[in-house]
Amino acid sequence: MSRRRKKKEIINDIVSQRIDRLFEAAATEFPAHAQRSDRYVELVRRLATRYRVPLGKKKMRFCRSCGTYFVYGANARVRIKDKRTVITCLKCGDLRRY
Ligand SMILES: [Zn+2]
Repeated sequence: MSRRRKKKEIINDIVSQRIDRLFEAAATEFPAHAQRSDRYVELVRRLATRYRVPLGKKKMRFCRSCGTYFVYGANARVRIKDKRTVITCLKCGDLRRY
């Protein structure tokens, strides 16, 4: 494994940890300051784009159209259809299947 590859893995690790912490903060802030949660989502997306860190399942935690942090039942609707999870953003109406 090359040196460059290792460096990339270290960056991935650090960025992933930061993203996890931002999502935690978003969850904590949501009940009182929903707009702060959206701001954390914005930071997460910026980090993921800049460092090209794959978000994987974390993509399901916010709206990829308008950037709203999802709290299922509050601002997002989750339905299972044909064994697939369908998440509807109640803010902009965007629909995603996973
Ligand atoms: Zn949306």
